[in-house]
Amino acid sequence: MSKALSIFLDQARAYLMQQQDLFGNTIYTEGAGKKPPDTRADTIPYPDEPWVSAESLPDLYDQIHECLKCPLGQTRTRFVFGTGNLRADVMFIGEAPGADEDAQGEPFVGKAGQLLNKIIEAIGMKREEVYICNILKCRPPNNRDPETLEMETCSPYLLKQIELIRPKFIICLGRISAQWLLQTNESLTALRSRTHAFKGSTLIVTYHPAALLRNPNWKRPAWEDMKLFMGLYEQSKKEKLT
Ligand code: SF4
Repeated sequence: MSKALSIFLDQARAYLMQQQDLFGNTIYTEGAGKKPPDTRADTIPYPDEPWVSAESLPDLYDQIHECLKCPLGQTRTRFVFGTGNLRADVMFIGEAPGADEDAQGEPFVGKAGQLLNKIIEAIGMKREEVYICNILKCRPPNNRDPETLEMETCSPYLLKQIELIRPKFIICLGRISAQWLLQTNESLTALRSRTHAFKGSTLIVTYHPAALLRNPNWKRPAWEDMKLFMGLYEQSKKEKLT
């Protein structure tokens, strides 16, 4: 085999593996009339409602903070919108508020939130510098997992937040937010240690801080995820300068 053919085959193999990571086993070709599936951001249409035209996060908050579209609106104490820098480069997305968050109206303020703050400090950032939110804005009773219908009903709000912030990076905290945003059943293990494309952002998956509190053995692999992020973030800053 000629050297040129060997290089071509290596490049073709690398491309196909990358496509498999993004789209599974279906091959999409440009011009074949089939568009590669994008992520949740493209598959959930915005409902025909006034808040869709919100031009800022405060505007969006004003329009949705009394939402009662799913039963969680009846049982919540506080609506938990999100917190942080409205122009953040990095968004952390969990699944839903817990008891502390429900009481205070702010995401990640309990023990898991304190650990998240430490993680954010460890990557050289401050909590105020990033944006933190969840898929659901109201607490599921007894901290149960969010139900599909709840996520379907609530996630247009999250997608609007992402659209307004336009973060360079999204870090999904835990399996539920990662599987939901990426619309996949792949395991957390399979989704970690690589990057995913999400509506113009680079999405990275890591453990939920509450899971790290339950199983400290996962702190080391979680740190590997953060190192992956830090490397990519530094690279993006350098590219911005050149
Ligand atoms: S969880 Fe979301 S959709 Fe349900 S009531 Fe709260 S804000 Fe509305």
